[in-house]
Amino acid sequence: MLGTGNCIATGNGTDALFLALRAIGVSREDEVITPAFSWISSSETISLCGARPVFTDVDPTTYCLDPHLIEQQVTPRTKAVIAVHLYGHSANLEEIQRICHKYHLFLIEDCAQAHLTTFNGRPVGTFGHVGCFSFYPTKNLGALGDAGCVVTDDDGLATTIRRLGNHGALQKDDHLMEGINSRMDTVQAAVLLAKLPFLKKWNASRQQNAARYCERLGRMRQITVPVVEPRNRHTFHLFVIQAQRRDQLKDYLASQGIETMIHYPSALPNLPAYARFGFRPSDFPVASRLQDDVLSLPVFPGLTTDELDHVCDKIEDFYTSG
Ligand SMILES: *Cc1c(COP(=O)(O)O)cnc(C)c1O
Repeated sequence: MLGTGNCIATGNGTDALFLALRAIGVSREDEVITPAFSWISSSETISLCGARPVFTDVDPTTYCLDPHLIEQQVTPRTKAVIAVHLYGHSANLEEIQRICHKYHLFLIEDCAQAHLTTFNGRPVGTFGHVGCFSFYPTKNLGALGDAGCVVTDDDGLATTIRRLGNHGALQKDDHLMEGINSRMDTVQAAVLLAKLPFLKKWNASRQQNAARYCERLGRMRQITVPVVEPRNRHTFHLFVIQAQRRDQLKDYLASQGIETMIHYPSALPNLPAYARFGFRPSDFPVASRLQDDVLSLPVFPGLTTDELDHVCDKIEDFYTSG
């Protein structure tokens, strides 16, 4: 579907990232630039390789890596950049690719939230040396349990990733190296093959829902709706608003039977998991503000117009009743 030369099935999306990092040779002493606002997979896999995640703040409108901040993070130890296409919106791949070329860095795309998102008309996952996907049940294409994959046009990298995910072997007992067991379960593969033909239709349904939300909520001053940068086709894995009095709004909607979620309640550098770096929230001002303001509204395919309008009505009620 993406047109890449190779697609390697993995046990989950986190393994896809870990295997990609291992395959490009990330190891001790290396640094990898990664966004400060994401799911923890895009930083923990760097640490798992023994390398250092170099957190970089995100752009306040796309919520993805801010390209203006990347260059100042590059050191002689920098080996790669992980671009996360957060919520289904592509990172600025043009600028990120330019920087990676200039400093001879590998580009890994984390497409776990961006199945068939495009940038300049081309699907994400095909820009970097490696693209990593998750098929966790909640993703735009989800299995019944865990699954993931890695895509790449580089046949050498593909072979290494295949080996690393299968105990270092391509065939039984052919262990050229040590690896891990990250095979995609056959049952999950069958489910994904059956669901794959529906992905475009489901993405279109998310896009329609998002458009109606923007129409209804876009004029409210208490809310910021997502901005789709013109080169993007956003696939709205999540529909994330920034909301004044976010926590009270979330509680109010819950009391009305409307489930919302927070992706994510803490920027990565502010997590206890990264206390060793001694960061302060002011080191990542955008990410540290987003953690307090973002709220994900229901956007799943099959959400009815009535349900969506009901969510919008309740949000209006919350703000008009003070
Ligand atoms: C879901 C997700 C992952 C990890 O995928 P798993 O299949 O849950 O391991 C990685 N990165 C991002 C941005 C994700 O949303």
